[in-house]
Amino acid sequence: MAVEQQRDIISQVAEEFGRSPARLLDVARGVHARLGHLSEESIGFIAEALGLERVRVRDTISFYHFFARQPRGRSTVYLCNAVVERMKGADAVAKAFEEATGVKMGETTPDNAISLAYTACIGLSDQAPSALVNGIPLTNLTPADVPMIVETLRKGEDVSSLPQAKVKKNLLKRGDIVFGAMDPGAAIRKALALSPVELINEMSVSRLRGRGGAGFPTSMKWSFCRTAKGEAHYVVCNADEGEPGTFKDRVILTECPDLLFEGMTVAGYAIGAKKGFLYLRAEYEYMLARLETVLARRRDAGLLGTNILGKGFDFDIRIQVGGGAYVCGEESALIESLEGKRGAPRDRPPFPVQKGYRNQPTSVNNVETLCCAARIVEKGGAWFSAFGYEDSKGTKALSISGDCERPGVYEVEYGMTLQDMLDMVGARNVQAIQFGGPSGQCIAPDGFGRRLDFDDLATGGSVIIFGEDRDLLEYMRQFTEFFTEESCGWCAPCRVGTTLLLKGLEKILEGSGTKSDLEALKKLGATVKAMSRCGLGQTAANPILTTMENFPGLYEARLSKDEFIPSFDLAKALEEGCAVTGRNPDLEEKHA
Ligand code: SF4
Repeated sequence: MAVEQQRDIISQVAEEFGRSPARLLDVARGVHARLGHLSEESIGFIAEALGLERVRVRDTISFYHFFARQPRGRSTVYLCNAVVERMKGADAVAKAFEEATGVKMGETTPDNAISLAYTACIGLSDQAPSALVNGIPLTNLTPADVPMIVETLRKGEDVSSLPQAKVKKNLLKRGDIVFGAMDPGAAIRKALALSPVELINEMSVSRLRGRGGAGFPTSMKWSFCRTAKGEAHYVVCNADEGEPGTFKDRVILTECPDLLFEGMTVAGYAIGAKKGFLYLRAEYEYMLARLETVLARRRDAGLLGTNILGKGFDFDIRIQVGGGAYVCGEESALIESLEGKRGAPRDRPPFPVQKGYRNQPTSVNNVETLCCAARIVEKGGAWFSAFGYEDSKGTKALSISGDCERPGVYEVEYGMTLQDMLDMVGARNVQAIQFGGPSGQCIAPDGFGRRLDFDDLATGGSVIIFGEDRDLLEYMRQFTEFFTEESCGWCAPCRVGTTLLLKGLEKILEGSGTKSDLEALKKLGATVKAMSRCGLGQTAANPILTTMENFPGLYEARLSKDEFIPSFDLAKALEEGCAVTGRNPDLEEKHA
């Protein structure tokens, strides 16, 4: 394409987004969709159109997984290689794609028809193996499906009519709170009859805690945000579920978007916000058109926009699609991304409730939390707190996958034991449960009497079941590799530590690890946990640390008899090769 034509296209896209630097992600998405990749030239034109430094645009774009910097084929297959996908045969599907196209994963066919790439969890572990093909999800793939998919792409046809282009809802247990029947507008009508302080008091009565995993009381978050000084207040819904094995937001966004938008609206009323953002992970972009339709319908019904229900309250919601980065699930990183920057976590304090989006008070809440909030306003805090267990009130939507008969989404009450959960999903001969995703805990059978509970087993919702025949440590290696790849590279304990954790574990898996390596690995894990700047690094060692604690025999069985094999040393590695702060150019290159 001629340079001037490129410049015109980019200028048009920038114009669509008001030439606002804060809309850099949208502009990049728009240009990427039109030109197929973001070349150095495009980056220059985007910078020019938005009045930004070229380096800032390049730095941001290189951070996100789904922005290609090199030309790609007319179609791109992003095959998911998350742990559950590989358990269910993703490696064989990858091989079938390589055979059918004649190129390796990571390459493009010589006729530029098809590019093959891997991607991390795309929220379809209940119907694995899966892929995003030109943004369209294909599920339950087998090697036998691949020739037809490739033929369709070679003909330049749309894959959405293929039988594999079907995402099952897989909502296998509806609770009364998140997935119960709803009357759109009911919660808003009730909310507007209360003062914001009364509404927050109702949240306090409910004892609702954030469903992202940390469990911070929602009433406190809203109260801090409401009383924080600022020119404007904002509500942000974190729909960036990227924890491998998580897919319950996919089902909530499909099944009950009205409840979510209602929750965002009552949150806006409570904290004094006029504007809300739904930050939708890039992998769920296929849901965007439907969600926009729901928003439009709600505006028409007077449930969004100016003078909501004639009560003088103004509030509207914009959907921001991400670019593909696990760390953007961290609230401050998400805010950076929402502002059109790379999603690097911020130092805290100040917390987002004090200085969040555009440095203004911002309440970032999980999808499920906001659904619970809407239900609480509708039915009352006391009604909500009658569900659950001790200090964990209400229900939890779990995404359950792996070795079980009925993978899917289940809304269960807090307090359920792991054994009851296994019986519910038809899981037998279970070796381990990865509870809370890779950043959570790997639990052995002697822990299956433990309960779903913020104070013992907190989770954002991911539950992966490993049968007794699985090589558990190999899956821990894959989890550790995931953290290594998703580290934003800002701080050394995480950037270097995750790589060293991976090397240490690989040494043990190869059979050349020693007892002193195990000790070093344990110390390194504790250091990475204690010294990392954000939740990603603070939990990256969990797959190793929790399996060392709960499955010590698995490690000991892989050790070498030779005690003279040298082990690695974090302090030495830091000294030899790694700056203590600063970015990792290799990572940036990798994302490019
Ligand atoms: Fe980035 Fe990891 Fe540091 Fe978090 S802990 S800021 S992801 S390098």
